[in-house]
Amino acid sequence: MFSSNSNKMLNVVLFGPPGAGKGTQANFLKKKYNLVHISTGDVFRDNIKNQTPLGKLAKSHMDKGSLVPDQLTVDMLASEVLNNSNSLGFIFDGFPRNIYQANALQKLLLKLSAEVNAMIALEVPDSILVERLLNRGKTSGRTDDSNESIIRNRIEVYYKETAVLKSFYLNKGRYYGVSGVGEIDEIKDRLIDVIDSM
Ligand code: AMP
Repeated sequence: MFSSNSNKMLNVVLFGPPGAGKGTQANFLKKKYNLVHISTGDVFRDNIKNQTPLGKLAKSHMDKGSLVPDQLTVDMLASEVLNNSNSLGFIFDGFPRNIYQANALQKLLLKLSAEVNAMIALEVPDSILVERLLNRGKTSGRTDDSNESIIRNRIEVYYKETAVLKSFYLNKGRYYGVSGVGEIDEIKDRLIDVIDSM
């Protein structure tokens, strides 16, 4: 069983479509297991806010609800990981989003003699996702949350490009699906059960 006293890194990919609750749950898990939370979406949004060259490049893709180019994303992720290479592990939220990124993550973690221990998927029906994202858009200030056609495009990109990662991690025996419907605390307990049973 993993605990925050473990001397082995714990690396979890939180997986699921936009609006599944990855960010909310990652915030709980990072505290409970003392992990570094990397949300690629958050890093891009910070870069946009600070008007960095990376932010300028990412913005046009994010505004449409499509993926930021892989090399840009992988380089950014690599620097976040390597800057925290002494941590107990990572929660990856919003990364990897396709097979290219999953392979890049595997190679990167290998440099730290580590691997993805679990991909935990939050499973939520589309109708609930759209409702949640439109609600979030009222307060998050995220332009990609306030327009239903952009939201639908993000969900479509997820099914076209990202959902294949389920079989990538299933084949490695690292895929765990949990229901992402219900109270936030109930969902949190489901995730903790998965991690503590590993
Ligand atoms: P998120 O916060 O995970 O919903 O991501 C918001 C947007 O950031 C996505 O619609 C993409 O445009 C971009 N993005 C976040 N993570 C990635 C990634 N791993 N690869 C490519 N684009 C990403």
